[in-house]
Amino acid sequence: MNIFAPDYYVQSFKTLNIRKLHEMGIQLLLCDIDNTLVAYDEEVPSQDVVDFIHKLKMNGIEVALCSNSPSSRGKNFGKHLPVSKTYPFSCKPFPFCFKKAMKDHGLKASQIAILGDQMYTDILGGNIWGLYTILTAPIAIKDRNITKVFRFFEELIYGYLEKKKILKRGEFDD
Ligand SMILES: [Mg+2]
Repeated sequence: MNIFAPDYYVQSFKTLNIRKLHEMGIQLLLCDIDNTLVAYDEEVPSQDVVDFIHKLKMNGIEVALCSNSPSSRGKNFGKHLPVSKTYPFSCKPFPFCFKKAMKDHGLKASQIAILGDQMYTDILGGNIWGLYTILTAPIAIKDRNITKVFRFFEELIYGYLEKKKILKRGEFDD
């Protein structure tokens, strides 16, 4: 398997099949924030995000936030949501937040899924450390400057995955 290829590719968190995760034995969903749940300059979760997290919890899946953005951003966003933990400044794809999430929740990597919009952070990190990886199309075209750099390299990966017929941008599983 290619380390940049997600296990599951969705158009949005709103189209994610929660039952499928539940049936696979996933007990924790680690959610990226910027461009996964909201645009990076939106400070408060939308009602759709609140509903999504409630729905996960109703299906027996705990939710934690893990964001590479500065700590105040992650913490402030998490305050509005019924999440078990918020891991700000999480340095994905490095494993700090994944290991902390396993320890905090008493779970193995195979019981955790990560949902994010970036191949170089969310998907690469999740794949390397054995989580179930879910790639979503980014919510907005706008990005932080650092993310713009990653997006450039991401274009190359999309090209490679499309050539190998592993993943085609816009052809979602759900
Ligand atoms: Mg993101």
